Amino acid sequence: MEASLAERLVSWYREHRRDLPFRRTRDPYAIIVAEVLLQRTRMASGVPYYERFMARFPTVEQLAAAREEEVLKAWEGLGFYGRARNLHRAAKAITAGHRGDVPTNFADLRALPGIGDYTAGAVASIAFGERVPAIDGNAVRVLARVFRLAGDLRRGPARRRLMTIAASLVPASEPGQYNQALMELGATVCHPKAPRCPECPLRTMCGAYINGSPQRYPKTPPRQHIPVVRVAFAVAVRDGKVLLVRRPPRGLLAGLWALPGGELPPKGSTTETLRKVLANLGLSVRLDEVAAPVEHTFSHQRWVGAVYHVSVVGSPRLPESAMWAAAEDLRRLPLVPFHRRLLETRFGASLR
Ligand code: SF4
Repeated sequence: MEASLAERLVSWYREHRRDLPFRRTRDPYAIIVAEVLLQRTRMASGVPYYERFMARFPTVEQLAAAREEEVLKAWEGLGFYGRARNLHRAAKAITAGHRGDVPTNFADLRALPGIGDYTAGAVASIAFGERVPAIDGNAVRVLARVFRLAGDLRRGPARRRLMTIAASLVPASEPGQYNQALMELGATVCHPKAPRCPECPLRTMCGAYINGSPQRYPKTPPRQHIPVVRVAFAVAVRDGKVLLVRRPPRGLLAGLWALPGGELPPKGSTTETLRKVLANLGLSVRLDEVAAPVEHTFSHQRWVGAVYHVSVVGSPRLPESAMWAAAEDLRRLPLVPFHRRLLETRFGASLR
């Protein structure tokens, strides 16, 4: 009898899987951390973060007890900081509502704050053997090609069809191994642009390969226009300390410490607006020369502008959300990464 898709995948996975630190554990907390942290992050850059994060917060109780600032610090540079805050919230809910035990089924995992279908499915299947799918972008690509799934697979009827197929394929035996195998095949063989079909265990059942059209699946939505946002920041140094402000608790780079300034309205003078931002902190300043240009692309917007040297007039009292930070503060605080790089150039030393 011909092997099923699941059997082929799991047997291929046993031989070809990458040895990754979170695959050596069944600790559900470690698996949650890995699944949240590695979403939208390349494996090579994500693994060192995972190892540092687990060394810093080895148990769910330690993560729940940490201050948000400490969690953001461990996440600094990974981007998508909402994931760190969600993980922190989930740890608090596990500690408060489940006596520190990670819920053991999909429904209870899904009910945790910030835990979506993918993470709940991955943890339920990998840590607890529940027969549920875990569909990340790699798994979508493999299934779209094998079953030649047309349409926008991110939402609507095409997404529902994908999820119905995905759920029907999960085997009763070793569902966690199967889910990891599907994602691993997408990550290492079924590449978006150049799939290595001759090496693929699914090639004799893959509709797109047989049809000679793997690259046509999944349909990629048209590239979204990324708006440009003008920004200006100020670097003010006094007695060897640099002026920092904490960004608001919501929005882009929320909760990180940053140079004062930020997004500017589309019209109006950059320097005047920057002066007003600083006046809101109670600071009267003299703007000096440009310290560095800013050009930074996020997933949904691009920041373009400059960082200015400024001199603060007088010795005003700072609000709670601002501080004069010494080098040891810069090492301890979660900082906007490109501000950290700029300050390292300014101070000529590593501030990590
Ligand atoms: S045969 Fe090719 S297109 Fe089909 S799943 Fe395998 S690698 Fe992807």
